[in-house]
Amino acid sequence: MSQWFENRTAVLATMHGKERAIAPPLRSSLKLEVIVPENFNTDVFGTFTREIKRPDTQLETARRKALKAMEITGNSIGIASEGSFYPYPGLPLLSCDREIVLLIDKVNDLEIIGETISTDTNHHHQSITSVAQALEFARKVGFPRQGLVVMLTKDATEREDIFKGITGEENLIEVVKSFLDKSPHKSIHIETDLRAMLNPSRMKAIEAATLDLIQKINRPCPMCHRPGFEVKERIKGLPCKLCHAPTELVRAEVYSCSGCDYREEKAFPRGDTSADPMYCNYCNP
Ligand SMILES: [Zn+2]
Ligand SMILES: [Zn+2]
Repeated sequence: MSQWFENRTAVLATMHGKERAIAPPLRSSLKLEVIVPENFNTDVFGTFTREIKRPDTQLETARRKALKAMEITGNSIGIASEGSFYPYPGLPLLSCDREIVLLIDKVNDLEIIGETISTDTNHHHQSITSVAQALEFARKVGFPRQGLVVMLTKDATEREDIFKGITGEENLIEVVKSFLDKSPHKSIHIETDLRAMLNPSRMKAIEAATLDLIQKINRPCPMCHRPGFEVKERIKGLPCKLCHAPTELVRAEVYSCSGCDYREEKAFPRGDTSADPMYCNYCNP
């Protein structure tokens, strides 16, 4: 599918060094060059450190970032990525990171979304009452390759109560001391910086989402040959092995083309034609 993108240039809406994860695979697989606009401030779309709330969903935020970068630079292809951290479904103590990488191509009227869910998140936080505790936390999370954020309280929203992007020990000690001094309870909050350039785990997840995007681009519609023939719907009801009643597990995936509306149903996407009775409401109520 590289002829769709060959020798074109995409603008990547980032100020957090995401091009290191996104640009190389796009160049080698699609011959698509990626540029980053100068002084593009993505913080207006929301920040992880909560002083600016993300007003839209993850997908809508990525879309708005990509369109904004396209508008500023006049590029016909825009790319944006957006991460979201939340408890892993069913395992509330495990944090996971859903990363999406979105590509919009105005010339061909395409919007394709690559995604990945990673549980290797390095998403940690703690309240601390001493410099020693801060250093202990730093050691555990892989500082200084992993950056840190120190906050007066975990709900702080004022800029002067949040110190981001700490990557040096001296700086860490100095910030922790001054925040402890300021704190009425002599207790402050420390957490891993989730911005991509300071979070190696996120960078890896962003790269995986980019590879997923490329895989989707490389799957053309069998009717009109547009890139991005992908799964848009999952149908539940995989039959129970014992009683054949439909379960909540996926029975089929529906691929569809947003260009010509052609659809194809693929049964048993995981390879199994029946479900373990443990998922059955009758056999295992
Ligand atoms: Zn089609
Ligand atoms: Zn059953």
